[in-house]
Amino acid sequence: MSSKKHNPTFMWEEMTWPEIEAYLKTVDTVILPCGAIEQHGPHLPVDVDYYDAKYMAAKVAEACEDPKPLVLPPIPFGVSYHHEAFKGTLSVTNDALSRFVYDIGMSLAKNGIKKIIILNGHGDNAPTLTYAAQMINRDAHIFVCVDTGESSDIDLYDLIDTPNDIHAGEIETSTSLAIRPHMVQMDKAVNETLKFGSKFLDFDDVRSVNWYVRTDKISESGVMGDPTKATAEKGKKMWELMIHHMVHLVESIKNTPLEDLYQKSY
Ligand SMILES: [Zn+2]
Repeated sequence: MSSKKHNPTFMWEEMTWPEIEAYLKTVDTVILPCGAIEQHGPHLPVDVDYYDAKYMAAKVAEACEDPKPLVLPPIPFGVSYHHEAFKGTLSVTNDALSRFVYDIGMSLAKNGIKKIIILNGHGDNAPTLTYAAQMINRDAHIFVCVDTGESSDIDLYDLIDTPNDIHAGEIETSTSLAIRPHMVQMDKAVNETLKFGSKFLDFDDVRSVNWYVRTDKISESGVMGDPTKATAEKGKKMWELMIHHMVHLVESIKNTPLEDLYQKSY
């Protein structure tokens, strides 16, 4: 199984099948990044959710101890129908995405993978990915979880001044400035901070319910938040926090046998 080639990798698509077979004897955990191709205001490219999920999955795996979790190629497209009034948005249906992720999950299980960590870069994929995760668990009896930022959101909110900063705002613009500033057109960034009349609809309120709206109903530019407050420094801090917490999450899952994950407190 040894090869002379290159540096050791943990990127699934860069390995040969014998390398994957050998690697799977040491690790049973994968990270599956999921993104979206959708409008991110007039100042950010449409690939932010895709690029960030891909970037973070690689950084998290890199920061994990050996043997590192395997990282799958990212799924670029997500559920983005609510942005479709803005050009450049490409959306797939909830059914198509959940079915696709389900099929990948079942195929991973056949390869011997026991734990799938779905790293979701796009909030509106969450219900669909959670649904797919449930079905994979139901049918393959393996561990599947979805992290849409829950592992670090609380820390990120401490770093920003903007309420309801959910899309192309202070957070996403800061994280983009930190890793690819050449893709950010700050001169085109506009503040469209959301205000809601009901606390039950206010995304920042602990009592808020899940609800859905077409972006053009509440934002002219496509921005929901305040990108004008974004800085690369804040973005660097955000990446550090997000990667730190996710490494912790991945390590705790990777190093725990499947049966113990279900049964033990650790
Ligand atoms: Zn986004």
